[in-house]
Amino acid sequence: MSSETAPVIEIRDLHKAYGDLEVLKGVDVTAPQGHVISLIGSSGSGKSTLLRCANLLEDSQQGEVIFCGEPVHWRGQGAARVPGDAAQVRRIRTNLSMVFQQFNLWAHMTILENVMEAPVTVLKQDRAEVEVRARAILDKVGIGDKCDAYPAQLSGGQQQRAAIARGLAMEPKALLFDEPTSALDPELEQEVIRVIKDLAAEGRTMLIVTHDMALARDVSDHVIFLHQGRIEEEGPPEALFKTPKSERLRGFLASTN
Ligand code: ADP
Ligand code: MG
Repeated sequence: MSSETAPVIEIRDLHKAYGDLEVLKGVDVTAPQGHVISLIGSSGSGKSTLLRCANLLEDSQQGEVIFCGEPVHWRGQGAARVPGDAAQVRRIRTNLSMVFQQFNLWAHMTILENVMEAPVTVLKQDRAEVEVRARAILDKVGIGDKCDAYPAQLSGGQQQRAAIARGLAMEPKALLFDEPTSALDPELEQEVIRVIKDLAAEGRTMLIVTHDMALARDVSDHVIFLHQGRIEEEGPPEALFKTPKSERLRGFLASTN
């Protein structure tokens, strides 16, 4: 498969343990270009670990991670197996932007500087060009008027939109979200959900960990329900939410209402 048509992220039979604690027990995830995949499941089921493995932030004991058709090279075996090629890890990570629950903006930089930082310092792009792009992206996520503000001067919803803008400025192949709305008050959640929906409508490839079933239902092409480190059920959102097959998924969905 050429890199043009290969899935952006492919994870095959991934096993991950922290010491004796097996957290992922053979998980397969495919994120084709332009698709939105949501990961749902109880706290502790392994969702964040899976995202971090996709972003090569974790070692793993078995299985493959394939980025745009390019298999990740591993070094070592078993408990000591880590992504082994620093240049490859860098290349892949700069192509995957991660958005966290806690925004993680740089407090001492303005919003515009936050968005410009990585393209200028990591990608070595021209500062003036990056600034034009950064302002356009901030406009697009609805905070074009906040360029000169500092993160502490923004609401949580505005900070999270700034964090998404920072991810977009890297022009990534995919965006990875880990509970992007969990730290927000309900009325601020909606402004972040709107941005995520716009990105989905644009055909962005996204992997979204969320506790928000309405979001998963509305934006996903495919939903994966993780239970204790295994995929218990997966499928298109209509099937998963309307006619869940597994007892555990039915119980989980009932608990989220
Ligand atoms: P989720 O995001 O679905 O809530 P996580 O992936 O954060 O789940 O965690 C899965 C399991 O792995 C939990 O039992 C958690 O306590 C454990 N875990 C996560 N990170 C670490 C770590 N750095 N060291 C040890 N155990 C961890
Ligand atoms: Mg988590």
